[in-house]
Amino acid sequence: ATAVLFYCRSGFENDLYQEWQARSGLQARWESAAGYALAFLQEEPEPTLLHTDSWIFARQALRGMALVELGERDRLSPILDAIAALPAHWRGPWSAVWLEHPDSDEGKPLSGFCHRFTPLLEQALRERGMLDPTRDGPRLHLFFTGLNRVWLACSDPAHASPWPLGIARVRMPAEAPSRSTLKLSEALMTLVPDAHDCLKPGMVGVDLGAAPGGWTFQLVTRGLKVFAIDNGPLKGTMALHPYVKHLREDGFRYRPRHPVDWLVCDMVEQPARVAKLIADWFVRGDTRHAVFNLKLPMKKRWPEIERCFALIESALDEAGLRYTLAAKQLYHDREEITCYLALRRSAERTRRRRQVPDRV
Ligand code: SAM
Repeated sequence: ATAVLFYCRSGFENDLYQEWQARSGLQARWESAAGYALAFLQEEPEPTLLHTDSWIFARQALRGMALVELGERDRLSPILDAIAALPAHWRGPWSAVWLEHPDSDEGKPLSGFCHRFTPLLEQALRERGMLDPTRDGPRLHLFFTGLNRVWLACSDPAHASPWPLGIARVRMPAEAPSRSTLKLSEALMTLVPDAHDCLKPGMVGVDLGAAPGGWTFQLVTRGLKVFAIDNGPLKGTMALHPYVKHLREDGFRYRPRHPVDWLVCDMVEQPARVAKLIADWFVRGDTRHAVFNLKLPMKKRWPEIERCFALIESALDEAGLRYTLAAKQLYHDREEITCYLALRRSAERTRRRRQVPDRV
């Protein structure tokens, strides 16, 4: 069997399984433990199944190559032996080697070991001609599920998460008024491929459910002028910032006088209600980009996501709009996912950035 190895938020393995079932259309044996899951297939997986962007609940998607049991003393030799025993196209040279572990209570204590072991392994691989950081190409992942067990896996850096463990590290800005700011910062890094070009000084944004101002802070920092909609107070630097106009209004009723460039929305509300609101803004031509959260405290999260996406897609399709819709459970998301919806320029085809075919 061939294996696909996914990393995910601990406790959301079953949501990932639901997503896998709904989207891959493949029969697979599924194994999971806190923070990761494996799908074992009879055939080679379609390339898009290994595109991390394709998945909402997966932080990383890798091709699993072999599971290696390690002894207590010499961990290096069995790993090198296992790599040497792989088929020729999996013996490198790799462009990089990452030592990783599950992001879980059991997995986190392995981080020190991974850190210490990395230079030893890098040197051994380099000496054997299996590692060459000057080359582009596949990356080797060693995913330690314990001190004595490691999955050898590989990724194509063009389609994998560019961060170890699939976690984008975001620094908390000292002046930001809330930790929520990290969520929008991570969303822009993860979901908006050309964030640098499409968030520019002179643009205008609207932040629905803005208080105390963490998301507004992210937009203002990038030079946008922001209408911050919330009955609650903005705090710190956001309360008096010249680029921020605070309006104490209902986020479901507020509409801008002129179309804006960006809409962001972090209101705690029923996900379908938020989805409908966002679709409405696009259909009315009130914005070109949106980042919004869908809060998913319910048990059956996947059907709720399907329902929200269907709602957005049918509204935008009916309006003849071309768009991109991408979504992710971010590192800073707990029982929620973050979505990015954007109009596409007319020459581009309408499609989701998640490219896995819906049910085969
Ligand atoms: N993104 C914010 C930040 O980074 O600081 C945090 C937003 S907090 C999770 C949700 C906010 O949505 C609350 O301040 C709440 O007052 C606001 N909210 C909820 N329902 C709303 C509505 N109908 N209209 C306007 N604001 C609303």
